[in-house]
Amino acid sequence: MGKGYEANQLRLSNLALLGKDLARRARSKCELCETGGVKMLTYEVTPVAGEPDLDKCLLLCSDCFEQVSETRRFKAGEHWRFLAQVLWSELPAVQVVAVRMLKRQQDSQQWAASALEQVWLEPEVEAWAGQDD
Ligand SMILES: [Zn+2]
Repeated sequence: MGKGYEANQLRLSNLALLGKDLARRARSKCELCETGGVKMLTYEVTPVAGEPDLDKCLLLCSDCFEQVSETRRFKAGEHWRFLAQVLWSELPAVQVVAVRMLKRQQDSQQWAASALEQVWLEPEVEAWAGQDD
């Protein structure tokens, strides 16, 4: 087994350790759509580097997780309206993901474009949001 495999296993166990703190912070609800009582996944906000960091992780329901992490599964539309609220979150990682999801649909969704126009972001948050892959 190569170094890459070991590094990945270490990363996964470190992520699992973060799980409890993350669930507490999120009150076991999806940190984007606030759905509770469903299977939750830990999403690491890109770019991912070094040790997993609680401030760079989000607890997401599987629906949000899929659409956030896999661009081709993303479907624009009214069901993302909650992002306009989430965009004002106190957590930079939440803001970053909200900005990215809104940008993906600002051309087809007028409400998404106006949410982006109205928000004020810290320069660090704006820069981080721009590092999308
Ligand atoms: Zn969700």
